[in-house]
Amino acid sequence: MAFSELQTPMRTIMTPGPVEVDPRVLRAMSTPIVGQFDPAFTRIMNEIMEMLRQVFQTKNHWAFPIDGTSRSGLEALLCSLIEPGDRVLVPIYGRFGHLIVEICERYGADVCTIECPWGEVFEPQTVIDEIDKVSPKILAAVHAETSTGRLQPLKEIGLACREREVLFVVDAVASIGGVEVKTDEWCIDGVIGGTQKCLSVPSGLAPITYNERIEKILFARKKVERGIATEEDLRYFRSRHSIASNYFDLSMLQDYWGPRRLNHHTEATSMNYALHEGLRLVLAEGLEQRFARHRYHEEALVAGLQVMGLTLFGDRNHKLPCVTCVEIPKGVDGEAVRGMLLDAFSIEIASSFGPLHGKIWRIGTMGFSCRKENILSVLAALEAVLIRHGAVVNRGEALQAALDVYAT
Ligand SMILES: *Cc1c(COP(=O)(O)O)cnc(C)c1O
Repeated sequence: MAFSELQTPMRTIMTPGPVEVDPRVLRAMSTPIVGQFDPAFTRIMNEIMEMLRQVFQTKNHWAFPIDGTSRSGLEALLCSLIEPGDRVLVPIYGRFGHLIVEICERYGADVCTIECPWGEVFEPQTVIDEIDKVSPKILAAVHAETSTGRLQPLKEIGLACREREVLFVVDAVASIGGVEVKTDEWCIDGVIGGTQKCLSVPSGLAPITYNERIEKILFARKKVERGIATEEDLRYFRSRHSIASNYFDLSMLQDYWGPRRLNHHTEATSMNYALHEGLRLVLAEGLEQRFARHRYHEEALVAGLQVMGLTLFGDRNHKLPCVTCVEIPKGVDGEAVRGMLLDAFSIEIASSFGPLHGKIWRIGTMGFSCRKENILSVLAALEAVLIRHGAVVNRGEALQAALDVYAT
């Protein structure tokens, strides 16, 4: 049997990831491969580190990608910090808070949680009171919860953690490059970003950054792989607290991303080309301009959805600009609507998880997908498809409302 060359449809991707990728990033991925210690490649690695510092708004020395999807960054930071029995506090307000708990438990943490209803976020003081109650070593929280489309304010929580010497680890997978993430100003010790969301790079890397507080812990747990260790490195084998994972051991990864260039895995060459180009485009646009662009298109989308007569889901004061959650109208089959959007219009929007499954759609406006023609297409198509599915909507008004926003 002969297999034909790949041929994928051209889609308008309006989900919370993976999103459309800028053609310049796709072109960068076809750049010829060079060896992992070739100066041409180590220069690219160093430039990625410098660009990541800027995107994470940090002076941290360490800022580099983990090879794997975003959750690999979460796992790398958490497993490199957690020793069995360490207490971790996780505020849960959607699916990805549960993911943090799940990862922490696998590494033997004593996990404490607080929960609030999906669609809401925590009052910072609620989290701070809980920190005082359970005295964790680590507070691990989600910044932008894509499952519910909410954004948790972090600054007050970060300051409280710093005062109490609690390590603050943040999942900013869905916010980095789309919404302000101020690592240093918010006193975040370790941050995980994502590529396939607002950075608009394919899935497969997880950029992280961490400060000297975390580096100190890594140093105490440091290992060098036996087969490449020098005489001097042998002292590390006495460490009783070594990190449970080899692949995610940040003490070894930073020896690879640092001046020693001590080989760990083989760096994912083409993905790093993509990340390099993606970060370059983010910085060329400008962080403030990019955040403003995300808010601008969100405004047009929301205006259109509301005049159509649809109801937005969740606490409006903490809405995530790059994900808009819409209640599925009564009597409408949400999956049939998504199916027709894809088949007839080549537009993808998302459903949701857990308690929200079948109740809301999620429309992403992230990175390269976040642009005028996509907003107008999704509004036009959604209206048409809803009418085909018998929903009562205000006809012909959504596009005009969005165009009004664009006219200002
Ligand atoms: C998408 C997402 C993840 C997981 O990302 P993967 O790349 O699928 O591993 C984690 N946290 C948040 C908040 C996300 O939106």
